[in-house]
Amino acid sequence: MRGMQESSQTILRDIFGYNHFRGEQDAIVSHVVAGGDALVLMPTGGGKSLCYQIPALVRARRGMGAAIVVSPLIALMQDQVDALKQLGVSAAFLNSSLDAATARAVEERWFDGELELLYVAPERLTTPRFIAQMERAKVSLFAIDEAHCVSQWGHDFRPEYRALSILHQRFPSVPRIALTATADARTRAEIVEQLELEGARQFISSFDRPNIFYQVVAKNNGQQQLLQFLSGYKSQAGIVYRLSRKNVDDTAAFLVGHGIRALPYHAGLDASVRAKNQQAFLREEGVVMVATIAFGMGIDKPNVRFVAHMESPKSMEGYYQETGRAGRDGQPAVGWLCFGLGDAVSLKRMVEQGDATDQRKAVEFGKIDALLQFCELASCRRQALLHYFGENLAAPCGNCDNCCTPPQTWDATEPARMALSVVYRTGQRFGATHLIDILRGVSTEKVIQFRHDQLPTFGVGKVYSAMQWKSMFRQLVASGLLLPNETEGQLFSGLMLAESSRAVLKGEQAVVMRQEGLPKGRSRSVRDELESGSGKIRASSSGSRTVADMAGIAEEDAPIWQRLRETRMDIARAQGVPPYVIFHDSTLREMLAIKPTTLAAMAQISGVGSRKLAQYGTQFLDVFQQP
Ligand code: ADP
Ligand code: ZN
Repeated sequence: MRGMQESSQTILRDIFGYNHFRGEQDAIVSHVVAGGDALVLMPTGGGKSLCYQIPALVRARRGMGAAIVVSPLIALMQDQVDALKQLGVSAAFLNSSLDAATARAVEERWFDGELELLYVAPERLTTPRFIAQMERAKVSLFAIDEAHCVSQWGHDFRPEYRALSILHQRFPSVPRIALTATADARTRAEIVEQLELEGARQFISSFDRPNIFYQVVAKNNGQQQLLQFLSGYKSQAGIVYRLSRKNVDDTAAFLVGHGIRALPYHAGLDASVRAKNQQAFLREEGVVMVATIAFGMGIDKPNVRFVAHMESPKSMEGYYQETGRAGRDGQPAVGWLCFGLGDAVSLKRMVEQGDATDQRKAVEFGKIDALLQFCELASCRRQALLHYFGENLAAPCGNCDNCCTPPQTWDATEPARMALSVVYRTGQRFGATHLIDILRGVSTEKVIQFRHDQLPTFGVGKVYSAMQWKSMFRQLVASGLLLPNETEGQLFSGLMLAESSRAVLKGEQAVVMRQEGLPKGRSRSVRDELESGSGKIRASSSGSRTVADMAGIAEEDAPIWQRLRETRMDIARAQGVPPYVIFHDSTLREMLAIKPTTLAAMAQISGVGSRKLAQYGTQFLDVFQQP
């Protein structure tokens, strides 16, 4: 047992250049090296790859043959193999992107015992031909990556994954390790059943992503808000999600017009344009990808610094998965959601008008409501997010907007009653904008046309600004007191009363709201609190604290930092690989902090393994020699 540990440790240090295993990696690696089966549930960025790569190397180097890694996407295989080659590991893939001669050459190397890891697409793996080849070559380990693809419930179902149980039947003595970042119990149970992993040891990590700062802002002028947000991320890579293709094109053009390197990505674009834009996102630095959710699966880029949602996702699952594409490298990152009342209403309308069964629609509504509640939350977002996935975080996280800038709440019963009453009096079919005009006593054409200036509620809410009313309407929808009126498809954003609003109208129930709805002068704002330095509030309301931490490069170090990045880019370009395959940002950062002057000092840096030291060490040392 000890000997095994040592060789895993040696590989971790020499090949990968890391000093310590993270979290459960150590236990997982020992278990699999010793021949045990494992099911690994770990969030994105948790370090799943090492969990099978190190056992593969240990076992291959003991003459047990190559490990076979099942992976669902060509792009993922390519990335992993590129990264392993940089480390001097003998890895290759077999998939439909290879011509016959290249595939044959890979097979030859495999049969000659030259390969340590072989990545294979699932449809190839279960063919009789490949099974026969595996019987001929030795197999040391099966690693099944993205194992949730076996689940019909998931979003990434791949029928070919179902056939993978054959591995266990045909090769009962070869250990298997299945890995996924999908958290829910139902998917987990299905993986176990479908892959016949009943005897496997389960390693379940927390799904928390502590380095992601969660922030939700109320939408007023979405694109300007986005621009403001992005100003904290000059030349950083990130993703901006939009709901529709048209919005993607608009926002990309808008950002380009403001000097930001933004590219669009959606299913309506030519495949070649999509491929080109994706490539630019991966290989260049500081590209902002504006995309529909068609973009993201299989994107392994570790240094995505932000994920911005311009519309609310459809569920907490979607929110977790999409924001989760930020900060794989463990460095500070932000999930920023710009949330408007219209989003919630149109999402619900889309579900309502869809052709799903009523039962399915009810489930979808429930998911939208959960997300709405999350948006309007006044307490720790991470606690709520983890709670949704069945995990308990004992204390508030200190790394979300609500923790850093606690919103104040207030008794909004009176305006809530005004709002509900105006909905009722106008026939429960108008949207918030019109209702707010009535409440504020604005005689628009529409108000006159419907004679809404004659209503007793006309002008009763003058004391609140239109912005404050918008926030209150959003919160009324989030709390379920108001619902979108589905019978009035032609009037968009029409609202109607929920059963629960009756108690509020009758004065039997109070309504508490977040502070944005507060009229001026009624209480000190969070900003006042900050400026006077009195409150317990620690950071700014814009999330810029995180941004500052992340930049965190001292003024005088900026030129060296620039040269380090240029050196990395030059090497990456020459080899046609993404820069992070050469060195991660965290490795460059450590170089900057230590400013090594010898190869021995360079070798100590996390992420500098022996091959990278030999290949690139001098080049990076030179950066520190320059005046
Ligand atoms: P996952 O597949 O779980 O999303 P990865 O395997 O891509 O995560 O790992 C995420 C990042 O963490 C990678 O950049 C990887 O190099 C790094 N990493 C993994 N394990 C360690 C470790 N023990 N020490 C330092 N960095 C690590
Ligand atoms: Zn928090």
